Amino acid sequence: MFSEEIEKLTWNEITEKIHSKTATDVRRALRKEHCTVEDFIALISPAAAPFLEEMAVLSQKYTQERFGRTMSLFIPLYLTNSCANSCVYCGFHISNPMPRTILTFEEMENEYKAIKQLGPFESILLVTGENPAKAGVPYLAKALDIAKKYFSNLKIEVMPLKSEEYRELTNHGLNGVICFQETYNKERYNIYHPRGMKANFEWRVNAPDRMGEAGVHSIGMGVLIGLEDWRTDVTFMAHHLRYLQRQYWKTKYSVNFPRMRPAENGGFQPNVIMNDKELAQLTFAMRIFDHDVDISYSTRETPYIRDNMATLGVTTMSAESKTEPGGYFTYPQALEQFEVSDSRTAAEVCRRLKELGLEPVWKDWDSSFDLIAHTAL
Ligand code: SF4
Repeated sequence: MFSEEIEKLTWNEITEKIHSKTATDVRRALRKEHCTVEDFIALISPAAAPFLEEMAVLSQKYTQERFGRTMSLFIPLYLTNSCANSCVYCGFHISNPMPRTILTFEEMENEYKAIKQLGPFESILLVTGENPAKAGVPYLAKALDIAKKYFSNLKIEVMPLKSEEYRELTNHGLNGVICFQETYNKERYNIYHPRGMKANFEWRVNAPDRMGEAGVHSIGMGVLIGLEDWRTDVTFMAHHLRYLQRQYWKTKYSVNFPRMRPAENGGFQPNVIMNDKELAQLTFAMRIFDHDVDISYSTRETPYIRDNMATLGVTTMSAESKTEPGGYFTYPQALEQFEVSDSRTAAEVCRRLKELGLEPVWKDWDSSFDLIAHTAL
């Protein structure tokens, strides 16, 4: 389990290592076809800032070699905003006296139908707050059963589950799970996650292991940029990715670096801000480090940065997202989990991608693809 591996890593030592990297280390990493975590550290370090153009060229080359000129599109659907956790940076935390929604199965189906009117989406991400008593595995299983009628690629972003629960959901059509660690800084993790299930660092950090054991096709990882030093956090994530790839080599991996923005209404203020250049540097570094990993940008990011990065390393994007339960049809005015920065319609995003010379892909995976691959072996 990664909770044992992480004991070998020290937050402060990694931070020091990042800041000790030099231009020579960066040049060495850029010359390598296969980078180690040490090379990744050089590429995300301040020493790599003057090499941004060179990194962009390499990142684009590796992305086109592996993914062609494509961009996979997906849409999230929030099924609930009911949550038993108290993450200090999230409006859905348990102490916030707001109306809570858990979509009924009929409402859910209406949402699926409304999404199909927005574009030919085949990939959907079902998102819930973390409240297993009210929206647990049986609820998710039913949500997947209904979603199967409309979509071929079903992912969830919900509370971490047991291995057998992930396996059960794969029997209902699940093929991907996203679970962000938020931060790998174990010492400070509970400052942000003081109560509820999410306060258990080990349970969360081992969730991808349990997904791998259950044979989940695609595992999504991420750190929330804004909590701790982002360079150190993403280095831990790079270690985690390599560890998982060694253990569960048949699985596909995706990474995400959602950036928290300063709150305007006195809410939680990020401790660190990552600017656009730094986001680009991290994206290039990740692609140079791992040519195959799916790099995903959500609508938290602006059209400007999404369009600019679309040809340089990003391979998956959400479009026309609503971040409140039932936001497409049932409750279009409810409180959002986070504010969307790219409010273009799916058709507008699609048009822009085509102008950039990319082919939008609505369906990037189907269980039949795996069947064909196995038959061919
Ligand atoms: S981030 Fe997720 S787990 Fe935390 S309070 Fe918000 S919905 Fe709940």
